[in-house]
Amino acid sequence: MNASPEHQRLLLDVADLDRRIQQAERARTTPAQGPRINELAKERQEQLRELTSLTGARDDARTELSRLESDVKLVEQRRTRDSERLAASTNSKDAQAFEHELASLAKRVSDLEDMELEVMSRVEEAEAAVAAQQALIDLTTAEGTELTTQAKAAVAAATTEGEHLKRDRAAITASIPADLLADYERRASRGIGVGLLRRGTCEGCRMMLSGTHLNEVRQAAPDAVMSCPECGAILVRTDESGL
Ligand SMILES: [Zn+2]
Repeated sequence: MNASPEHQRLLLDVADLDRRIQQAERARTTPAQGPRINELAKERQEQLRELTSLTGARDDARTELSRLESDVKLVEQRRTRDSERLAASTNSKDAQAFEHELASLAKRVSDLEDMELEVMSRVEEAEAAVAAQQALIDLTTAEGTELTTQAKAAVAAATTEGEHLKRDRAAITASIPADLLADYERRASRGIGVGLLRRGTCEGCRMMLSGTHLNEVRQAAPDAVMSCPECGAILVRTDESGL
């Protein structure tokens, strides 16, 4: 195939734009924050599960405490009633029975109050654990929200960048003959589309051409489309080619 050296050189600009378009596409579809955002979502789920279990333990302790409180109330009511009955009693046998029961009720209240104190401290510990877990979840959520905002901004920027680059590419390719462009695109789809020949080296694959190949390139007409024997890219010749 033949194409003017100017048109061949334009392919280098197209290749550069294609590389940047691919970069922008990667930034758009896989923002850098993505892995951490997924990690945080998983962490948050585990933290929420833990919160559910801590909340359950706290609620159990609260229920136990209110049961003890109502038990104390019931025993206190009975003590009041027995005291009144004792005061009203005329029979010494009855009085003795009331005194006996009052003593055992006093012991019962004291035991219940000891248990209350113990459960109260468990409620406090459980409440602190729930609060700490909630604070941890808030931190995870805040980091996730922040990163999501950053990712959205990065995706929006990459989208705009990609659109600009595609517009630039269209402006350049409009002046390149269709068959040359198609040739470049076919080669690019398999690997490297075009490489500048600089000081005897193909910049597409960084391989230095052998003397034989350099001779071939040297002898070829300026508008001949040459290929790198190593990577198959269109070899673009300039004054820097070292020919
Ligand atoms: Zn090459």
